Amino acid sequence: MGDMINIVYKNENEPIEARVKDLLSRMTLNEKLGQMTQIERSVATPDVIRNLCIGSVLSGGGSKPFDKATSSDWADMVDGFQKGALESRLGIPIFYGSDAVHGNNNVYGTTVFPHNVGLGATRDPDLVERIGAATALETRASGVQYAFAPCVAVCRDPRWGRCYESYSEDTQLVRKMTSLVTGLQGKPPQDHPKGYPYVAGRNNVMACAKHYVGDGGTDKGKNEGNTIIPYEDLETIHMLPYPDCISKGVCTVMASYSSWNGTKLHAHRHLLTDILKEKMGFKGIVISDWEALDRFSDPHGSNYRSAVSSAVNAGIDMVMVPFRYQLFLDDLAHLVESGEVPMTRIDDAVERILRVKFAARLFEYPMTDRSLLDVVGSKPHRELAREAVRKSLVLLKNGKDPKKPFLPLDGNAKRVLVAGKHADDLGYQCGGWTATWEGTSGRITIGTTILDAVREAIGNNTEVVYKENPTTESLSGQDFSYAIVAVGEAPYVESGGDNSELTIPFKGDELLKLVAAKIPTLAILISGRPLLLEPSLLETLDALVAAWLPGTEGNGITDVIFGDYEFHGRLPVSWFKSVDQLPMDAHQKSYDPLFPLGYGLNSKVQP
Ligand code: BGC
Repeated sequence: MGDMINIVYKNENEPIEARVKDLLSRMTLNEKLGQMTQIERSVATPDVIRNLCIGSVLSGGGSKPFDKATSSDWADMVDGFQKGALESRLGIPIFYGSDAVHGNNNVYGTTVFPHNVGLGATRDPDLVERIGAATALETRASGVQYAFAPCVAVCRDPRWGRCYESYSEDTQLVRKMTSLVTGLQGKPPQDHPKGYPYVAGRNNVMACAKHYVGDGGTDKGKNEGNTIIPYEDLETIHMLPYPDCISKGVCTVMASYSSWNGTKLHAHRHLLTDILKEKMGFKGIVISDWEALDRFSDPHGSNYRSAVSSAVNAGIDMVMVPFRYQLFLDDLAHLVESGEVPMTRIDDAVERILRVKFAARLFEYPMTDRSLLDVVGSKPHRELAREAVRKSLVLLKNGKDPKKPFLPLDGNAKRVLVAGKHADDLGYQCGGWTATWEGTSGRITIGTTILDAVREAIGNNTEVVYKENPTTESLSGQDFSYAIVAVGEAPYVESGGDNSELTIPFKGDELLKLVAAKIPTLAILISGRPLLLEPSLLETLDALVAAWLPGTEGNGITDVIFGDYEFHGRLPVSWFKSVDQLPMDAHQKSYDPLFPLGYGLNSKVQP
């Protein structure tokens, strides 16, 4: 114990900056380079971490799914890696990162919240902060200390496959939703020095504002594409959420795969160093995106050394390698020895990494607090997610005659039809980034589908009939009071979600028209973005609700459609009439949407 006190970096009573300086002065070049390296879990072993002084391990989108593994399985894995790190010469702990982007969504049995587009519709920063705090607890319970969230992209074009990861096309709304950072990390005290990372305690996680910058503004909404706009627009549309995150003490910022006016962000020294680090005063870690350095050159992965040189010199501090760590370490060592990457740049990167590790109190609390396991998927967390679902629903149409609202539905009707695959598919309800990277179909975790929720909500005297794919014949001769039909998108992620048509998949229009021709119909759209709604379809429907990608708590939907709660959500994105209008800009004179940004009805009679 006496020794610990004498060694400045091990003494928790010393100021963080003194600990950083002390530890840095004891490190060899190889240890420094190891700290700058983030490796994927399948190539990580306690030995690799110990011997190379690896800075961080991750489960990323590209990781093999860790099938139905529970929070406790994850905690065992992470703690195993951590033991390796603590046995390294200087005992520097790792942090483990994962995409906990709507709850701790990679892990079985957790509470899965609506994706960001739905949270944008709630327009409720306090709710988002509470979601952040709940996510932090569930994430820490699985050993993970670092969430690659929030995505503060301002999605200007719904053709982009990551539209649902963006809170809104409206910069000011995205700025408000950076309250997620406070939820995840805790709220810094008033005197917390500006730009420095902050983590309140061992129940919080380090956050990551991503993807810096302009990811939501690429040409035609192409993922990893090129954002072709002048600097003033980059700043006022896409950049503003970053100073907001920085003022909340965000620990890390992830660079975007995309380019700005033809230059890759990962190599953009001006934007990463002059603007983000110097002008905005960010003192935390700038991390690369997954395998981003391999994507610099054509053919893929060639000329890796020059990519390492451009990225590190531009200001990347930690590289999500994630597999070829030996090549990365060798190349970086070579670049330092030859003077192509100055030692001052390495020291700056490592200082930032150590600063975050001290701020997150990883030296004091490296291991998982197993008592947190009780909070995973707990009742209060599911209630919170249900509240978020309720508030995220946007009512787009209510009754063919506006004086005769169709909603709320009668919970005591004799016989109701629930139809469409999306009404009984938890995987579809959660979307991408759930259980697996791209998301999938079926009972992928614990939760309540729309059908489950209707059955729970409805009176004992009501018969609920479910048909995934009803035909006209199968509906004839039966007397249904009304139908609830859910249609929409199947899960997708990143470039896999880029889509220039934006029609309702699986012939959703036909299903809706077929049912609505026979039975008064409420349509529920499960999607990560606006989809094409033909006028003839809109006319046939009695009511239409955009439910986004609501997550595990389907009861949030029945709470509102049966009238226990009022509709609350307002569109966070403009609803186009035709894809030819994209990208739309609510500030342009020519703006002519089907439903404008901010639109949303209440279920009461409209005046
Ligand atoms: C995504 C990031 C994500 C990272 C790690 C990348 O493909 O662009 O948003 O955090 O993978 O999974």
